[in-house]
Amino acid sequence: MSDCIFCKIANKEINSEIIYENESVIAFKDLNPRAKLHFLIIPKKHFDTILDIDDNKTMEELLKAVKDIATKYNISEKGFRLVNNCKEDGGQEVMHMHIHMLGGEKLGTATHLMQ
Ligand code: AMP
Ligand code: ZN
Repeated sequence: MSDCIFCKIANKEINSEIIYENESVIAFKDLNPRAKLHFLIIPKKHFDTILDIDDNKTMEELLKAVKDIATKYNISEKGFRLVNNCKEDGGQEVMHMHIHMLGGEKLGTATHLMQ
C-alpha cells in the first residue's frame, strides 16, 4: 500500500517516534495524544481493518507488543486502555489497522472511549 501513511511509518519512510518493535509489529507515539501515554500499535503488514487480519502470528505479536509496552512503560500494575476504531461507524480515519494504547493516568469512563 504505497500511499498508506502507516505503511510508510512501518517502513521508516516517514518519521515517527517509534517506541517498540518486534518481528511483525511496530508501535509509535500518536501525533495528537489523548492521554499522558498514547501509542499506536500496528502490524507492519498492511491490513485495512481488524476484520482483515488473517494470520495468527500477527495477532500473537500484537498481543506481545501490548504486554511488552505495558512492562516497558511501567503501566502493567495500574492498567491502560486499548481502542480499535473499525470502519466508518467506529470512526476509523487511517485505514491501516491500529490499536490505540492509552494510559499513564486515570482515564475517563465515558462510553465514547476516545474522549
Ligand atoms: P483512528 O481515528 O483510530 O483512525 O486514529 C488515527 C490516529 O492516528 C489519530 O489518533 C491520529 O492522531 C494518529 N495519526 C495520524 N497520523 C499520524 C502520524 N503521522 N504519526 C502519529 N500518529 C498519527
Ligand atoms: Zn498500510
